[in-house]
Amino acid sequence: MSSLTGGSYPPTLEDAGEQDRLVQTVKDWTIAHGLAVRPPPALVGDSDPEGVLAMSAPVTLFPSPFPQSCFEDASAIQTKYNELYARISQDEEFLGALVQEVAGGDEFIANLWNVHLRVKKEGYVQDLSLGLFRSDYMVHQDGDSLQIKQVEFNTIASSFGGLSARTSLLHSHLARTEYPLLKSPIHRSALELPTNGSTEGLAAGLAAAFRAYGHSALGHPTCVVFLVQDGERNVFDQRHLEYALQSSPGADADPIPVFRLPFSQILAHTTLAPSSPARQLLYHPPHNPSLTFEVAAAYLRAGYGPGDYPDAAAWEARYQIERSAAIACPTVLSQLAGMKKVQQVLATPDAVSATPSALRRFIPDDESHSALWKTFTNIYPLDTTPAGLEARRLATDPAACQRYVMKPQREGGGNNFYRGAIPRRLAEIPEEHWGSYILMEIITPPPVVNTILRNGKLEHGGVICELGVYGTCLWNQRTGEVLRNQESGYLLRTKGDQSEEGGVAAGYGCMDSVRLL
Ligand code: ADP
Ligand code: MG
Ligand code: MG
Repeated sequence: MSSLTGGSYPPTLEDAGEQDRLVQTVKDWTIAHGLAVRPPPALVGDSDPEGVLAMSAPVTLFPSPFPQSCFEDASAIQTKYNELYARISQDEEFLGALVQEVAGGDEFIANLWNVHLRVKKEGYVQDLSLGLFRSDYMVHQDGDSLQIKQVEFNTIASSFGGLSARTSLLHSHLARTEYPLLKSPIHRSALELPTNGSTEGLAAGLAAAFRAYGHSALGHPTCVVFLVQDGERNVFDQRHLEYALQSSPGADADPIPVFRLPFSQILAHTTLAPSSPARQLLYHPPHNPSLTFEVAAAYLRAGYGPGDYPDAAAWEARYQIERSAAIACPTVLSQLAGMKKVQQVLATPDAVSATPSALRRFIPDDESHSALWKTFTNIYPLDTTPAGLEARRLATDPAACQRYVMKPQREGGGNNFYRGAIPRRLAEIPEEHWGSYILMEIITPPPVVNTILRNGKLEHGGVICELGVYGTCLWNQRTGEVLRNQESGYLLRTKGDQSEEGGVAAGYGCMDSVRLL
């Protein structure tokens, strides 16, 4: 396999003085510009009782080389992906059938579906749905050609749009100021670093939903609520979106009011407008009980996994959001559209699919169909269809399983089983629940070398890069009308090539940006 590391780029800094200077610059720039996270409690112990400390997010010292054609393909296809997932979100019958296939072994998905069914029964009062999506890819080498292959499509809590734009800015700052001073200087003109509009792009999506909601019929000021996790460490990523939203162009002279509300506090601080069939969601800021806001958009940065639903009250809280008039990002149906099972069914060729032509059903147009199809890699069901039985054979074979990753219907990292762990995991669960998982071929990108700065320490070596492209989409669930559909910047996440998972928040990966080659 050919390497993407051409010549001496990125350089290995052998000289301690050079290393120190770059590390110091990165440590200071990241804090000065909010490319930061809250420290893990284990790191600070009892020394930060007031919760005032922040630390640099892990980053690469250099932007990783990335094929320009792959970057352009991924950016160009995002609006088609937005359209695809908006359509899937509108197809309750399709999603319901897939939920039935996985729900037996997956109580979380079953509970989400029940929230949808309860609201459907009384009738939805909001037709608009907002997607802040992120489609993730790795580069796949096929002979001489390099192509993007999709890792997954995120429809809920797609994170890092706030930090990734800053990582692009960090690397272009270093390209202007520091790289030219190295003993083997790199001149800025040698680096093709695309601009990254992820923060403004995602904020513009939220602003579009805020405006589309219109004025409060009850005479309240309207607002956007970010539903977040307690103890969130990646809080600055979210704050950057909030600040961009508050100062978004086209907002009235007054900034858009934005509130952070822990998912666990939804029932304590929101109500539905009493005796109004419109079910407006009212937010009562705890710091000032005399204020009432009407929630135009509810942006979920929580609620994507079972950990956020410790009890029945948490499910009632999600139900309250879903049945309200607030524009949800995402709705339950849109969250379910992000199931790995959906991705598997889209990627399963017609001849063997249990639901033929799943991609055609949503994308009849040949050109779009083939562009999307090219980004898929092999993904198999683990059910009792002929394709599923063949996948079961591969997954339980000690040699064959080395080429695969097995995924449950989960988000947020740390949930998958890789290679030799697959047969062990399958042996732990009843066979009738194997269908709750999918089996995916492992993508092995061409080797790249880089240096990661994490917790003040340098890690140098082979890395694997994952490109995410953000998309914002606002559509009408009832009529299918699309009010907004935009590609909205990118994320490059990089991890050591010995690591299976790549989540930055989960502690495996780091922030990066692309140097186009
Ligand atoms: P999650 O929704 O939890 O983020 P992902 O499907 O993105 O789940 O998997 C988590 C990580 O596992 C990815 O970021 C990537 O590093 C790795 N991974 C997942 N699928 C593949 C694959 N097909 N090939 C290589 N790595 C993969
Ligand atoms: Mg995901
Ligand atoms: Mg992922």
